[in-house]
Order: sequence, then structure tokens, then C-alpha cells
Amino acid sequence: MVRGSCLCGGVRFEVDAIELLSNCHCSMCRKVHGAAYGTFANAYKTGFRWVSGEDLVQSYQSSKHNTRPFCRVCGSNLPKTRPDDETWVIPAGLLDDDPGVRPCLHIFTGSKAPWHEIDDDLPSFDTHIPGYGPEEEA
Ligand SMILES: [Zn+2]
Ligand SMILES: [Zn+2]
Repeated sequence: MVRGSCLCGGVRFEVDAIELLSNCHCSMCRKVHGAAYGTFANAYKTGFRWVSGEDLVQSYQSSKHNTRPFCRVCGSNLPKTRPDDETWVIPAGLLDDDPGVRPCLHIFTGSKAPWHEIDDDLPSFDTHIPGYGPEEEA
């Protein structure tokens, strides 16, 4: 089991397992994370549970197709899913335990920060993984 929480600790969740980690370099993830890129953990819906603070989750609609949930007390980015998704997408910085997997790819490297160099050989995609999501930032 892998536990996660927001900065203030009001929001807590746990997942049975993290399936993969990926880095998104799009400009929206950069802003939302305040960092060179956002690292996200994917977990199957069936293994995800809120432990506390679900009532603190607020959502910002960042585009027509995407929302960016955050804790209304401390502002931390929070896990997100949609009714027809198979997984939760979890900002990896929230994880309190080692998820046991390491980042395996980069997406939206076509819009990465000019001041950040990717220094590994992981697969990288200019936009989304073909067939897995929208090609425009969302
Ligand atoms: Zn919080
Ligand atoms: Zn992104």
C-alpha cells in the first residue's frame, strides 16, 4: 500500500499500488506544480481510497477537457479521475511512501521549459503518448 497526503495533511488517501510514473512538461503542469515539470503516478481506480479530507477538494477547470483539483486549505495539487477513466492520476509529490516504481517516460516535451534539460534516455513524446490523450495541453 502507498499513502499520500497534501501539505496541510487534511487530505489523505491510499492506493494498493502505483502502476507507473510519468513526467509531464506541458506549460499548465509547470504552473500548477511551480516546477520544471509535473510527475504523476497512475493507480487503478479499484485500489484507490480517500482516508480523509475529500470535502477539502476544490477543482479548477484548466481547460474544456481537464480540471485541476487542489486542497482548499493548503493549495496542494490533488489526485484526479473522471467517470470513464480506469485510473486515478496522482501528483507524485503527494506520496508519503516509496511507490516502488520510477518515472518511465516524458510527455509534452515539445513545450518544456527552456531552462530545463532532460538528462535521461527515457522515451519522450512531443505531446501526449499517441492514442492516450489530447495532443493539446489541457
Ligand atoms: Zn491541504
Ligand atoms: Zn501537463
